[in-house]
Amino acid sequence: MMGTVNENSDDYEDPDIFGLSLHRSNPPDRDMSLQVPDHSKKRPSSLYSEDGLVDDYEYEGDLPSQQGSFYLPNSGILTPAIKEDTSQLSAVIKMGWLDKNPPQGAIYYQKRWVKLDADYLRYFDSDKDVYSKGIISTAFITNVTTVGELKFEVGTNNRTFIFRAESEAERNDWVTVLQGCTRGRQRHTVMNPGSPFSPDCQGYLELKGLRSKLYTVVASDKVFLYKNVDDYRIGIGITSIEMNVGNIKISERRSFDLTTPYRIFSFIAESEQMRDQWVDAMRKAIAEALSNSEVAERIWAEPSNSHCADCGAPKPEWAAINLCVVVCKQCAGEHRGLGPSISKVRSLKMDKKVWTEELIQLFLMIGNERANSFWAANVPPSEALTLSSCNEDRRRFITNKYRQGKYRRYHPLYGNQTELNNALCINVQCSDVLETLSLIFCGADVNCSTGLESQPSPLSLATAHSQPLQAELLNHNLNTELPRSEGIEAMDPEPYPKPPSVSHNGFLFKTPSMARAVTERKAKEEFSRRWCTLIDEVFSYYESDKNSNPNGVLKASEIVCLAVDTPEKHGYDYTFEIYSESERLYLFGTDDPESHKHWVKSIAKSFIPASAEPLLRLGFERIGKLKCKDGLNLQSSKVGWFALEGSVLHVYLEGSQVEEIQLRKLNELSIQQDNEVLVLVEKGRTLYIKGKRKLDFSCWCAAIQAAAGSGGDTLNEQQLTETDIPVIVHSCIRYITQCGMTSEGIYRKSGVNSRVTALCERFRNDARSLCLREGEHQVDDVSNTLKRFFRELGEGLFTSEDSCSWLSTATIQDESEKISQYKHLLNKLPHVNKATLQALINHLYCVQHFCEMNQMNIHNLAIVFGPTLFQTDGKDYAAGRAIEDLIEHYKLIFEVDEQQLQKHIDEIHAIIKMRGNHKCPMASERGGDFICTVYLEENKPTAEQHVKIPGSMTAAELVCDMLDRRNIPVKEKEYWSCWEICSKEEMERPLHYQERVLPIVHSVGTESHLLIKKHLAMEAIIHYLTSKGDASKHGMIKFREERSLLGLGLPTGNFHDRYFILNTTSLRMYKDVRSNRPERDWPVKNLKVYLGIKKKLRPPTCWGLTVLYETKKPERQQWYLCCNTQSEVREWYATFLSIQYDGDVWPQEGLQNKRVSRELPDTRHGSVSLIPLRGSENEMRNSVAAFSQDPLALFRDVR
Ligand SMILES: [Zn+2]
Repeated sequence: MMGTVNENSDDYEDPDIFGLSLHRSNPPDRDMSLQVPDHSKKRPSSLYSEDGLVDDYEYEGDLPSQQGSFYLPNSGILTPAIKEDTSQLSAVIKMGWLDKNPPQGAIYYQKRWVKLDADYLRYFDSDKDVYSKGIISTAFITNVTTVGELKFEVGTNNRTFIFRAESEAERNDWVTVLQGCTRGRQRHTVMNPGSPFSPDCQGYLELKGLRSKLYTVVASDKVFLYKNVDDYRIGIGITSIEMNVGNIKISERRSFDLTTPYRIFSFIAESEQMRDQWVDAMRKAIAEALSNSEVAERIWAEPSNSHCADCGAPKPEWAAINLCVVVCKQCAGEHRGLGPSISKVRSLKMDKKVWTEELIQLFLMIGNERANSFWAANVPPSEALTLSSCNEDRRRFITNKYRQGKYRRYHPLYGNQTELNNALCINVQCSDVLETLSLIFCGADVNCSTGLESQPSPLSLATAHSQPLQAELLNHNLNTELPRSEGIEAMDPEPYPKPPSVSHNGFLFKTPSMARAVTERKAKEEFSRRWCTLIDEVFSYYESDKNSNPNGVLKASEIVCLAVDTPEKHGYDYTFEIYSESERLYLFGTDDPESHKHWVKSIAKSFIPASAEPLLRLGFERIGKLKCKDGLNLQSSKVGWFALEGSVLHVYLEGSQVEEIQLRKLNELSIQQDNEVLVLVEKGRTLYIKGKRKLDFSCWCAAIQAAAGSGGDTLNEQQLTETDIPVIVHSCIRYITQCGMTSEGIYRKSGVNSRVTALCERFRNDARSLCLREGEHQVDDVSNTLKRFFRELGEGLFTSEDSCSWLSTATIQDESEKISQYKHLLNKLPHVNKATLQALINHLYCVQHFCEMNQMNIHNLAIVFGPTLFQTDGKDYAAGRAIEDLIEHYKLIFEVDEQQLQKHIDEIHAIIKMRGNHKCPMASERGGDFICTVYLEENKPTAEQHVKIPGSMTAAELVCDMLDRRNIPVKEKEYWSCWEICSKEEMERPLHYQERVLPIVHSVGTESHLLIKKHLAMEAIIHYLTSKGDASKHGMIKFREERSLLGLGLPTGNFHDRYFILNTTSLRMYKDVRSNRPERDWPVKNLKVYLGIKKKLRPPTCWGLTVLYETKKPERQQWYLCCNTQSEVREWYATFLSIQYDGDVWPQEGLQNKRVSRELPDTRHGSVSLIPLRGSENEMRNSVAAFSQDPLALFRDVR
């Protein structure tokens, strides 16, 4: 038949097997044999070789029968050499030229192009060849060793191949790589008959042009050619054909062609029937290949996805669908090793079901490059993987990268759970999935509560905002374990000495343990008698004292809280609750108070560290440990030991004394962040208590809240302000000062009784949480609430003891004697009473000062307040007289600083004047102080502060003032700024530090407010400007104008691409890059740039700027610029800022040095809310979230 045998020819030569059959398909533009001239010249006649089939293998001399002995083997018996993932076109791990040892008898080595992937070692005639000359399944490689000079051996059970490299280094590299990918696989050399991946069809087929038949295997989406069935069994073949490029054509009778773009394989089957079987199997393989490759091809359309995200191997066919990376097979193996809670590994080819359109789009949108901008932002070159990295290196790297998150780019909010969760909730409403990835893997809780009833989770929020890709990403991460550096655990030690060992035993009554708080009364029947012991820090309870096996055991170290119930709360008179680390609650009871006391002391002693021992001496109602952060060190949380006794919370933090927090005197008490953090703000400090466990935390919250509420109707039992005035008194006075000074008959007119009753009730429940607001509350209701409070006050303001003395003093004729007697009595009053009386009289003094407007002179006020404060029936003249004296001689009796009082009166004047001008807020009142509401960090009533803003105050001064109030230290690289937030427009603007605040206060509408928060992008901005040098920028931006149509102010038009040039004088807009003449030209100094664009305008991206053009004309022009990336919008913004402030965007010496010495805020009168600058901030934050949460990717110095 074909050709002659060349004595040198001992390989399969491509042309032999395939070329000979001559149908070179579609005039191939490359002729493989010609492209490797060296070889083809050497063996020109190998084209005609047939027995290349024979001699490829060293040490194997048996020549195959050339004819006739082919048969179709029993297909059921044989298991494929092809392993599980044959459908994978595996990534090449290493390739290069090697000399392969000659077959027996030949004298020279043959140059071969050798490729290794996870499944096969293949060798080719040239690096251009598609189909190999030989293919060795790595599963069958038993050993790889170096032999002699530059050589190495690849051994299988049956054969040994010898290769020679060009250099020692190259040789060693091959050996390492081969060992790396075959290690641990030797056991597979024994065939596994149970393999599920049976070939679809196998047997001998004649290949036209070749006298011998080839053992052909169709498996999944590939066709493998082997010399014979024995070779098939030992995993050594000729080549494999990817069927995704194949096409089958029946030619005549027993023949059919498998056409690929590179070759046509013309096969001849044994019979026409057999041919049909083969054709059928191969067509199925094509279909399989096509459908298999569909997802892969689509995913690879994003260029960076065509290389493994971990090692860079080409054509990666696997993906970690929750981590959003496409990886090669080898890396996928290591991903799988992390477990599905960390990496969900799916095949691009086999796991077709998982690849929803959303998931594919998500992978296209993120892509390996962007994913790695997060995951691999900080990979030391020494740790990076290469194609040839061994499995151990891969494991180490992949563990570091995904399990530990070692290389990730830390989100600026890292460590701040609330902010992370917040940012996640906001971000899932826009399309920035990379940000979501970054948030999730920096600790944002995918299952956190959004606080919205209709969309309680980020997932539902994403869905509701039509963000299917966000939803997809969230969905795959609902149960993901977050990266945790091993170091972090070590950073959270409990550095407390062990408690001393205690022991105690006796009978107690116990209910079954519970997973929730005990809210209902437990009757005696629900308790069972148990023998309890506390020995060596182990608390155990037994069926009886005869039993030796306990029913339950609680180690002292597992106890997190012990609560003592009020007597008779349950069926047994005395009960206590033990809370465990594993969120169980154990309720024990006894009727014996002594036993109860003893148990409580013993158990507390067993788990409270010796250093927190003072807590044990308290008559606590609740004692235990909680995670907390305090104002001076917000970065790391620590374990604190707490004991609650009455309205005092005793706290022991590491390295400090036991401290007391007077709960009734807190400035603020709130539960934030999805009920996870309890915030206690007292004068000078803020304590954040974190809910590490739900059960005991929720009980602590309830107990602390109850203890912080008013405890009774005496003055002492009220919630108090810092200056020891009941909050209710403070609130009412503040409100009247703001809204009622000009109200005619104030305090004389009665309010609506039901409303007054309701107000009193709400104040009694929690005075701190009630914020009186104009519009919502009526002046006369509030004034009567204040009066009713004093009238019903237990013991009265003047105390029952001394009340008469006060009244009799009023009758003293001699003025100076009278005053000194009042002073004497005043000093006899308890502190709270004295402070309260002074605040009230001060207020009444001011009220009467404006009696021309409100008609309430001293006498009128005394008539009202005399009987109220002395709780008399009003018939006693002395009560009124006393009050009249106190107001009239206020300055003398209370030794008031004249100037201070005058200042306060002036303030009220300003308020009254301002209220008169309220309708035109642009009024030219620029000189005086204004009192306005400023929010700290969040727009909530609890975060509002009332600040007096003098005309000269700069943003920096305001920021410092606010931080001082809350005792918030400013750390390095923290850029606290004052922001003008326009919630309606969904935009915000950080004020420049030198910007005057007052004009902003005047110009903003009621839907805007001032917020003090960190400027997270500032560091990046400074960095950008420093690295850039000149202040100019140009580039394409999407532009939209807000034009006034017929004066209606309707927004028109859409976003269009425009070319912008920004230089030190102007912002110019061009139709495109080539335009010579700008369409627009605006002077930069007249522009006011806000971050964010209102969503109604449907900005194409979330990185938008709203630009206001302020002219002298009354109209204002506004337009919108939208960038494609976050960094772009930041750069534009930075450039604007730099130009407008001549490069001075942030004080070099830090903000703190910008403060001017200013008197401490006057706590008595300073908290007057004048301009309600409140609005819903949430929506606005959506569009600006991306900016303010700037990852500072490139610049941040990550620890
Ligand atoms: Zn890889």
